[in-house]
Amino acid sequence: MSKKKSKLDRYTWIITELVLGIAALGYGLFGIIVTPTPLNYLYIILICLGSISILTAIIQMTIMRKKKINKFCSKCGEKIKKEDDFCPKCGEKIG
Ligand SMILES: [Zn+2]
Repeated sequence: MSKKKSKLDRYTWIITELVLGIAALGYGLFGIIVTPTPLNYLYIILICLGSISILTAIIQMTIMRKKKINKFCSKCGEKIKKEDDFCPKCGEKIG
């Protein structure tokens, strides 16, 4: 149960990171186009932070996806979660 919750929290965090990153990037790009030069460096910082945030989120997502390796039951072919010891469909033991 706690394992599932921490996974959900991580997903929420990744999505938050992604949304904030896109927002910062969008705001920064918009600012550079609209605002005259003196303030541009602020928007460049925003764009950098936004890009880093988006990249981090993508990397974390890739890592999470790689960790989640799906196995299949040798008897019935049902998809099995990594933590399962027995097939949820036919009850075959997973080696
Ligand atoms: Zn099975």
